[in-house]
Amino acid sequence: MAKALLSAKIRTNMAVTTLKLLTNRSFLRSWALKTASRKVQENLLDYEMTKGSKCRYLASVEAQYIINLMNQGIKNLDKGILSPQYLKKVAETLGRGLWGESNRSQEASVKYIEKYGMEPPAFCTISPTQKCNLNCTGCYASSSSRSSATLPYWAVQRLVKEMRDICGASFTVISGGEPFLWHDGNKNLITLLEEFNDMFFLVYTNGLLIDDRRAKQMLELGNITPAISFEGYEEQTDHRRGPGVFRKSLASIDRLKKYGVGFGVSITATKENINLLLEDSFYEYWFEEIGATYMWMFHLLPIGRAREVMSLVLSPEERVALMTKWEELLFKRGYFIGDFWNSGAASRGCIAYGRPNGYFYVDWNGNIMPCVFVPYYKDNIYELYKNGKTIEDALMSDYFKRGRSWQEEYGYLSTPPGNFLAPCSIRDNHQHFREKILAPDIKPEDDSARAALEDPEYFQKMVEFGEKIRQLTEPLWQDRVNQKL
Ligand code: SF4
Repeated sequence: MAKALLSAKIRTNMAVTTLKLLTNRSFLRSWALKTASRKVQENLLDYEMTKGSKCRYLASVEAQYIINLMNQGIKNLDKGILSPQYLKKVAETLGRGLWGESNRSQEASVKYIEKYGMEPPAFCTISPTQKCNLNCTGCYASSSSRSSATLPYWAVQRLVKEMRDICGASFTVISGGEPFLWHDGNKNLITLLEEFNDMFFLVYTNGLLIDDRRAKQMLELGNITPAISFEGYEEQTDHRRGPGVFRKSLASIDRLKKYGVGFGVSITATKENINLLLEDSFYEYWFEEIGATYMWMFHLLPIGRAREVMSLVLSPEERVALMTKWEELLFKRGYFIGDFWNSGAASRGCIAYGRPNGYFYVDWNGNIMPCVFVPYYKDNIYELYKNGKTIEDALMSDYFKRGRSWQEEYGYLSTPPGNFLAPCSIRDNHQHFREKILAPDIKPEDDSARAALEDPEYFQKMVEFGEKIRQLTEPLWQDRVNQKL
């Protein structure tokens, strides 16, 4: 295991050196990019051959993701969308966080492995506030300006610190509500970024609060990338998020570009925009014209307010069509698009439940959940901390262990691996989730999650969706998984 960590360190070291090289010497960029891409491919194929599932497809997907991200980053650097100063800061942050002076990340991981016999989760997602300045149709978080649940600064600070010091994490995702609305007295998200300048933060935001001052701060900090939410073009975005929102969010992107801060876009796939999402021109717009470095794709899931708009949820057939599109865009168009349900091959299935190199989620009430899309919890950070415990205790709860056992049974490490085109614990395997992972001591996050448990029709629909998605994807998965090295 220590060997694996060492080689991970060498690989990351190489990546950061490459990043610095790419940033500093424009004439060396093309050579460095080609060399780095070849190395990535060789390393991942080598890993699959010696330790992995001997599946060419898995190695290819992972390698292509990294290559696409590097390519798009360089393209944006050349266009002046990303500033060399920002990229240098990113490299410094990664360098400090991953090995720094004390090699803290590696040491923490080794300790965790020795104690629990498994690698720690790579990150956690925290929603510090449910409050939002928008009121979007079908919001998974049921957020609005009326929501008041908010975590105090000390709780977020302690959680991030524990993730860094206990799990060796160097990356945190901040979600919402709207993260830029979060504050505790005069402390806010920027305070957190300043305090944890050895960690990198991906922040999901509607972008409306990114003014000139904030964009400049982001450049100076260099440890944040905002992912701005859209629903499509102006018509689709304003329809779901409110009149004028599209243009305001685009204006924020212009401010990020002015300071050269790397950004992505986050798209929610629904029945209303699915046709758009199957067109190349949509991705050309965001990557080529607007200059996004990456895109996240979230399918509207029937949780939170989305339970009220089940009719907008993609059908199994639409999801499969989107999967095929994602794959084409990854391999043929060179775009980095992370689709939480269709890109399971990149993460080797479900990454929830604090899985090795996976993640978990903490909401605005401090409830600790397996995933942003699994709104059921056992532990709460206030309770943990009051009782002298740490996040380790929640990661080792029976609830999380049951989830991880399911992931193992499902075959996230097996040869051949399980069907990563239907990897979702709650969406694609709902019956198992309800019968084997939930237990009487697991509580719903909110009224909507409670109502879902009590609604037989909802249960039936979820089970039917999972059966259909497995049936549609199984032959596609077999084709891919049989691509041997
Ligand atoms: S539970 Fe579903 S959405 Fe969450 S990480 Fe697992 S596969 Fe992804």
